Amino acid sequence: MAFTLAPLPYAYDALEPHIDKQTMQIHHDKHHQAYVDNLNKAIAGTEHENKSIEELVKNAGTISPAVRNNGGGHWNHTFFWDSLQGNGGAASGKLAEAINSSFGSVDGLKEKMTAAGTTRFGSGWAWLIVKDGKLEVSSTPNQDNPLMDVAEVKGTPIFGIDVWEHAYYLKYQNKRPDYLAAIWNVVNWNKVAERFEAASK
Ligand code: MN
Repeated sequence: MAFTLAPLPYAYDALEPHIDKQTMQIHHDKHHQAYVDNLNKAIAGTEHENKSIEELVKNAGTISPAVRNNGGGHWNHTFFWDSLQGNGGAASGKLAEAINSSFGSVDGLKEKMTAAGTTRFGSGWAWLIVKDGKLEVSSTPNQDNPLMDVAEVKGTPIFGIDVWEHAYYLKYQNKRPDYLAAIWNVVNWNKVAERFEAASK
């Protein structure tokens, strides 16, 4: 079965003014679609054709560069759309406690993620992961992620920020730190908390 691109879980303009409608249209409809199409091409007629996206991503380093880049791209973007929403709210409950214990406060987490995102040279992702039962911040190049066999820091992602220029350039131009500051207004904290609970079991 070929992979397909799911619609965004909200309207293209739902994250305005923090992430603009045109960026979301191009990012989802063009960039994410291209990862899906190229992943399908890379696995068509191979032994990998019927594997789940999770299985492909976990073994990406040994399968092929095309699966690593496009399978990673497909997994990462699906995860990213689900990580966001208009009127993001705030972290609460066990997740908030874990953030406070690992980073001092939500601001401490933001600082770490911003540092991870701004120091990632070129294209990549900043991640909040659960590793050995604890929260940690990491980053990956290109479309790698912490689930991959090739990841420098492995863990279960519960939140991630796309720091490719295509994620912010129309509105923020070269100002990646401004984008990294604005995105906290549109975090789907309920989703992050749900992933945290699942990863902590
Ligand atoms: Mn992207």
